[in-house]
Amino acid sequence: MPLVLHVDSDRWRDHLRSTWNPDIVPVAKGNGYGFGNHRLFAEARAFGARTIAVGTYFEVPATDSHSSGREDVVVLSPWRPFLEVPQSKNVIHTVSRLADLVSIPAGSRVLIEVMTSMRRHGIGARELRHTMLLNALDRIRFEGWSLHFPMGAGGTSANLREAQQLAKAALDVRKGTLWVSHVPAQKLADIGPDVKLRMGTGLWLGDRGALSVRATVLDVHSVRRGERVGYRQRRVSGDGHILIVSGGTAHGVGLEAPTAAASVRQRAIAMAKGSLDAAGMALSPFTIEGKQRWFAEPPHMQASMLFLPSSVAPPAVGDEVDLDVRYTTTTFDKVSMD
Ligand SMILES: *Cc1c(COP(=O)(O)O)cnc(C)c1O
Repeated sequence: MPLVLHVDSDRWRDHLRSTWNPDIVPVAKGNGYGFGNHRLFAEARAFGARTIAVGTYFEVPATDSHSSGREDVVVLSPWRPFLEVPQSKNVIHTVSRLADLVSIPAGSRVLIEVMTSMRRHGIGARELRHTMLLNALDRIRFEGWSLHFPMGAGGTSANLREAQQLAKAALDVRKGTLWVSHVPAQKLADIGPDVKLRMGTGLWLGDRGALSVRATVLDVHSVRRGERVGYRQRRVSGDGHILIVSGGTAHGVGLEAPTAAASVRQRAIAMAKGSLDAAGMALSPFTIEGKQRWFAEPPHMQASMLFLPSSVAPPAVGDEVDLDVRYTTTTFDKVSMD
């Protein structure tokens, strides 16, 4: 009774190969962009990446999973003295505060993060010549500078200008590799001589046409208008069928990260991806006969109840139905490399 991410593997890998080059550091974190981090590590090794990035120390792949030729692993979220850190010479830490540059063990491999307009983590441009930083450069194994830029609005040309300014300020302090995020891949040479781009979404999810998500119909019941169904015993709005399909809250179906939802159109898209409407009925992310169908009630833990009006012939138990989900917030039962 699975919720399955189907991958047209030839098409997907064509995209990976045409996107990746040695200046790109694949990012595998969280739910592995729907694929699972383990699979992404394997794919990254297969296309030749010598360095990968993960989000947290928990995501650093275990050393014994592959004994020979281990790649370097950059941890994107910054080192803190209270974190449990794997002892591996392949791990490259990100340090974003002067105090942490002083505390991190001598000889650690370190990227120093510079504050950008993101304002998430980083040492301010004005503090780059602080003696704490300059002294630390002799204690640590300096691997370069980390720069993480905002996305979208404002345009990438603003990011580019900021990247150029911050890169110059950092390289004046110490020459090294610039590890950037959210800068167009074609613009790296405009930032500096030695730039690496950390990329997740554009790589793994860059060709949506290679991906489809399908759920299984687990049960079908005919209902009449006004009959009560579900945990909440709501009345159905018309004659038709109740479908029980795989995919519920445990998969992330019907749940949504808050969206920026700046425009009406974006809000409509968020709705279309299954966010629940406080008023009651909500459009589900499941599509049957080319149309998104309504939830009969909020999704259950592993299944959802949908209402299908009598004008539509119901699918059979065991049939598959399409659904539209956010890959970074969905836990699939299975990833099928077709
Ligand atoms: C998650 C993350 C990335 C990858 O972001 P995508 O938008 O998925 O490409 C890059 N850099 C940093 C610092 C991140 O945290």
